[in-house]
Amino acid sequence: MPENKNLTLDPENWDEMRQLGHQMIDDLFDYWQSIRDQKIWKPIPEEVKDQFEKPIPEKGQSPEEVYKEFKEFIFPYNKGNVHPRFFAWIQGTGTPMGVLADLLASGMNPNTTIGEHSAMYVDRQVVNWCKELMNYPQEASGILVSGGSMANITALTVARNSFGSEKIRQKGLKAASAQLIIYCSVETHSCIQKAAEIIGLGTDSVRKISVNERYEMNVAELEHQIISDKKAGLLPFAIVGTSGTVNTGAIDPLDELLKISKTYGLWFHVDGAYGALAKLDPVYAPRLKAIEEADSVAFDLHKWLYVPYEVGCTLIRDAKKHREAFAITPNYLLQESRGLSGGLDSINNYGFELSRGFKALKIWMSLKEHGKEKYAAMIAQNNRQAEYLADLVNQNPELELMAPVSMSITCFRMIKPGLSEEQLKDLNREILLRLQEEGIASPSSTILNGKYTLRVANVNQRTRMEDMDLLVREVLRIGNQIVIA
Ligand SMILES: *Cc1c(COP(=O)(O)O)cnc(C)c1O
Repeated sequence: MPENKNLTLDPENWDEMRQLGHQMIDDLFDYWQSIRDQKIWKPIPEEVKDQFEKPIPEKGQSPEEVYKEFKEFIFPYNKGNVHPRFFAWIQGTGTPMGVLADLLASGMNPNTTIGEHSAMYVDRQVVNWCKELMNYPQEASGILVSGGSMANITALTVARNSFGSEKIRQKGLKAASAQLIIYCSVETHSCIQKAAEIIGLGTDSVRKISVNERYEMNVAELEHQIISDKKAGLLPFAIVGTSGTVNTGAIDPLDELLKISKTYGLWFHVDGAYGALAKLDPVYAPRLKAIEEADSVAFDLHKWLYVPYEVGCTLIRDAKKHREAFAITPNYLLQESRGLSGGLDSINNYGFELSRGFKALKIWMSLKEHGKEKYAAMIAQNNRQAEYLADLVNQNPELELMAPVSMSITCFRMIKPGLSEEQLKDLNREILLRLQEEGIASPSSTILNGKYTLRVANVNQRTRMEDMDLLVREVLRIGNQIVIA
C-alpha cells in the first residue's frame, strides 16, 4: 500500500468542532432573543466589503478562525428581515425551530428526489399538508420548490405542455397553430412575465390587463381582450389571477376569473406567492375560495408560513397532466420495487430540478410545533396589524393612506401643505432612508398612480401592535425634522 494519509474533510478534532457548533447555536439564540433591541440594519463599512474581494484561499485555516470571520464580517450586516420592524418587500422572518430543522436536514443531507428513505415520505406528507392548507383536492399533485418564482413557472409549464392536443412537450411551440396568449394584470409579479419568456411564449404574448381603483384586475377588459385575441386567430391559453399583489396586497376577482377561464377553456392559475395563505384568515377566506378550483396555485412558505428561506409550493389539480409535463426516466434513474431505489414516485417527475434538499423538514417540524390554528392566528394578526396601521394613518392629518388596505400591506405617506408631488416624493424618500439608516424600521417604497409611497408589508411573526405606533411616531418625528427646499 502506498504510504499516504487518507484525506478527509471531517474535523481533525471532533471535540473542538462540536464545541464550535454549540457556540454557533448559542450565538444564534442570543441574536434572536435580543433582536428587538438591536438596530434593524447597518451600512457595511468599506473595509468589510474588501473582505469579499479577496481571492480563494490556497490553504485552509482553523474552523475557529473561519467562524471568527463570519462573526466579524457577515453576521453583523444582516438584511434585517428577522427583526420585528422589517416591513420591506415581502419577506418572512423564519423561526428558531425552522432553523434547527434546516440544520438537521442539512446534517442528514438526503438528496430528496428518489429512493426509499424517510425524507421522501416527509416531503410527500408536507405536500399533502399544503393541499390541506389550500383546501385543495387530495388527488391533486404538488411539489416543493425554491420559491414563488419557481412555483409559478412550474405551474405554467404544465399549463403549456397540456394545452390542447398539440403535443407541445414533444414538438415545441411550433406545434401550436398560432401564438399562445397568457392573461394577467398590470399589477402581476414580474416573475409571470419572466416565466412566459422562458417557456417560449415571449413578452408580447403576455396581456397585462388594467386594474380598478383597488388594484384588482378589470374583468370586463379581460373578457374583451380574450374575445378579440380569439377573433385575431390567436390562442388564449391561461389566466393568472393574483392572491395578494406585491404592491398593495390586492386580490384579483378570483371567482370571476375562474368563471371566465371555464367559459373560454383556459387554464386558471393563481399566483398566491404572498397571499394564498390568507385563506387561513376568516376575513379573507371567502374571497380566496376560488383557489380550491384553480387548475394550479403557487405559494411561498418562506413568506407567510414564516419558514426560513427557501421554499415555495406548486399544486396542480390534474396530477396526470403534472406528471406528463415532466416525467422522464433515464437509465441511471430506474425505479425498483424494492431496496434503496424503491419507494415513492421520483419527485423529479413533477418538476425541473433533479437534486433537491430536504426542505420539507422545516415545514414538517414547524407545523407540528405550532399546529395549523396558530398559523391561522399569526396570519390574521399580521392582517389586523396592517389595518391598525391604516387607522393610525387615517387619524392623522399629516399622513395619507395611499391604497385600500388589503391583507397585510399598508401604503401611506407623509403630507405637508404646499408641497408639490415632487417635494412629497423627496420628503417621503428621505423619511424611508433615515428610518433604515437609523436602524428603526424597514418599510420599502413603491409608486402608486405616479405617487411615491411608503409601503409596509408585514409577514413578520415578531411584529407587535405597538410596533405600528412606534413606526408612525418615528415617521412623523423624522418627517418634521426634514426641511424640503
Ligand atoms: C414574492 C412573490 C413572487 C416571487 O416569489 P419568490 O419566492 O420571491 O420567488 C411572485 N409573486 C408574488 C405575488 C409574490 O409576492
